[in-house]
Amino acid sequence: MSMHDDIKNVLVTEEELKAKVADLGAQISRDYAGKNLLLVSILKGAVVFMADLMRAVTIPCSIDFMVVSSYGGTNTQTTGLVKIVKDLDADLTGKDVLIVEDILDTGVTLSNLVPMLKMRNPSSVKICAILDKPTRRKADIQPDYEGFQVPDEFVVGYGLDYNEKYRNLPYVGVLKPHVYERA
Ligand code: 5GP
Ligand code: MG
Ligand code: MG
Repeated sequence: MSMHDDIKNVLVTEEELKAKVADLGAQISRDYAGKNLLLVSILKGAVVFMADLMRAVTIPCSIDFMVVSSYGGTNTQTTGLVKIVKDLDADLTGKDVLIVEDILDTGVTLSNLVPMLKMRNPSSVKICAILDKPTRRKADIQPDYEGFQVPDEFVVGYGLDYNEKYRNLPYVGVLKPHVYERA
């Protein structure tokens, strides 16, 4: 029994992800040359993208991680406010913070988080999201660096989970309906 059998269709292939991450890494390396780049990843969804992107960045940089959770919500939806469950270790003073995210969906998470980080005196705060679902946006926020736009469907793989599974799929896809029914 392979997890690949649970996938209805692939939206972004492993090859497409690889090429895009290389592009983003090159672009970020140019834009942040001579700056104090700190890549900040939100666990757990962005961990796969972070691991790939940091190796595509060719300038010196640091990395850090945080855990946030939304109040309420279900397996496939988030609601309202976010709280910091595990904060950054790094002092943001003078840093050029680039938030490395799995997907910008409603934008509620990052529209809450960005102002919190900006209060810590960084030089800049920008967003790099490998996936973007622009049709679902509720908050006025856009990625500064973006990988792929995806339609309004619940996606898994490349770090993104359903019930903590499928994060290890090397591509981004949509689950077959029976997977939700058996949960
Ligand atoms: P927001 O709606 O606040 O922009 O997104 C918050 C988080 O919800 C994302 O970082 C991601 O972890 C999760 N999320 C949003 N859309 C999807 C999706 O299609 N699939 C999965 N697995 N997670 C999603
Ligand atoms: Mg996330
Ligand atoms: Mg999740």
